[in-house]
Amino acid sequence: MRVTDHRYSAELDKFDLAVRMIRHEARTGTIRACTGFSEDRIRKIYATYFRGTGGSSGIIRRHRGKSPRRIHQFVNSTPRQLEATVLAGLFLLCGAGALDAAGRMSRAAEADRVSLGQRLCQAFEAYRSLHPDPRLSFEWAWNLYHSLVDSHELYFAPCDACTGRYVQDAYALDYRRCPFCEMRDHRTLPMPGQPLDHR
Ligand SMILES: [Zn+2]
Repeated sequence: MRVTDHRYSAELDKFDLAVRMIRHEARTGTIRACTGFSEDRIRKIYATYFRGTGGSSGIIRRHRGKSPRRIHQFVNSTPRQLEATVLAGLFLLCGAGALDAAGRMSRAAEADRVSLGQRLCQAFEAYRSLHPDPRLSFEWAWNLYHSLVDSHELYFAPCDACTGRYVQDAYALDYRRCPFCEMRDHRTLPMPGQPLDHR
């Protein structure tokens, strides 16, 4: 591959990633972190490809400002903790991170920022297909990832009941019980085709 071809292909990857992230309503700062594009460039992509699109069912909003950072949002209810655990598991499956024996996640060492962004998008898309009415937005997914790999405020705790692992606050009192076992025991985990019982 010639140098110019390689540059063109790398540029195209960044552009595709920016479009993919705008579709997930990622914030400009998050798109910048993954693509290296300027704010102005992202604004132009948004204006060219997304403004006025979608109609009532598919409006793409553009978010500015800082990404949300509150880890208790991932663990303060069993359904949210379950979805955070599913999403964090998908980060691992999609190669965005690796897990050590203590349940601490580290970022994928070989991934540059573009391929990391692609892997996070892939994980988020799989999560959305598993949870059609998701509790976590792309920005929350981004925050979840960084709380796992950077600050390590969240980790994969072991469940005594099923021996699986689940996302937990590293500094909280832990009952070593995963949200899957918790929901099963309280019979709130729906069977396939059965609506969620909110009683
Ligand atoms: Zn369990």
